Amino acid sequence: MSSLRQLQLETSWGQLNLVGGSRAGDGTLILLPQLHLALDAGRAHRALPPMTTVLVSHGHMDHLGGIAYWASQRHLQSMGPARLIVPHQIAPGVRELLATHARLEGGRPYDLELLSVSAGDVRPLRRDMELAFFETDHWVPTLGSRLVWRRQHLLPALGDLPGEEIARRRRAGEIVTEELSTHLLAYCADSGPGIFEAGPEVLASEVLLIECSFFRPVDRERAARYGHMHIEDVLTHIERLGCRHLVMLHPSRRHRLREVERILDERLRPLLDCSLRHLMIDWD
Ligand SMILES: [Zn+2]
Ligand SMILES: [Zn+2]
Repeated sequence: MSSLRQLQLETSWGQLNLVGGSRAGDGTLILLPQLHLALDAGRAHRALPPMTTVLVSHGHMDHLGGIAYWASQRHLQSMGPARLIVPHQIAPGVRELLATHARLEGGRPYDLELLSVSAGDVRPLRRDMELAFFETDHWVPTLGSRLVWRRQHLLPALGDLPGEEIARRRRAGEIVTEELSTHLLAYCADSGPGIFEAGPEVLASEVLLIECSFFRPVDRERAARYGHMHIEDVLTHIERLGCRHLVMLHPSRRHRLREVERILDERLRPLLDCSLRHLMIDWD
């Protein structure tokens, strides 16, 4: 079983851990173990079953090839209910696929809630986090997802008051807090350069995960045709990025990883104000 890459990213929420691997065609799997959340499940991997929420960005095999393994392992190990979130266009097919797998295994249907979502939808992940969905620039319907951290914060004007006084005011019905929200992470799934038209809630989220599939001049047209990013697209739109950590994904197998890392180091890194990381691996 391939070893996944691990990133520990400093954010205003604290250290956010990302574990994953990504290669075009072979599989993209990104886990946020602290939140029990998977962003795509393109490969079966032992790290996947503990995740209680799995998002699937689109119907391509390299993004959903691991969902039956995930559902089956959770079922066999009685790991409890879980939630699978998919774009509404593929929800009927995914429901059918999982029902077929459960039937082939001879058991009961998997204990899964299948949630179908559209661009613009927002769904709670847990009390202080929500998931928001946006369209990306791929050749089949594809949803990117954003992680938004929401919490109540004492109004700055009340900061100097003693605790009992704040409690008294709260009991009297006075509003003493305001809601703060932070765009913690945006995962842009498979996407061409159209994603750079997205707003700051995507491009200036603290952690931004984007794909870059192609790196050679001859592949420019191929990238455009299949709704993927070419390194030239990233370089052209670099001014739009407002993130603290840029995490690259999804290189084509036409490139060796070492070649990709060298190009990122030489051409992209010197132009960035943010940290540059990646979750690119060879799966075999
Ligand atoms: Zn893909
Ligand atoms: Zn795709």
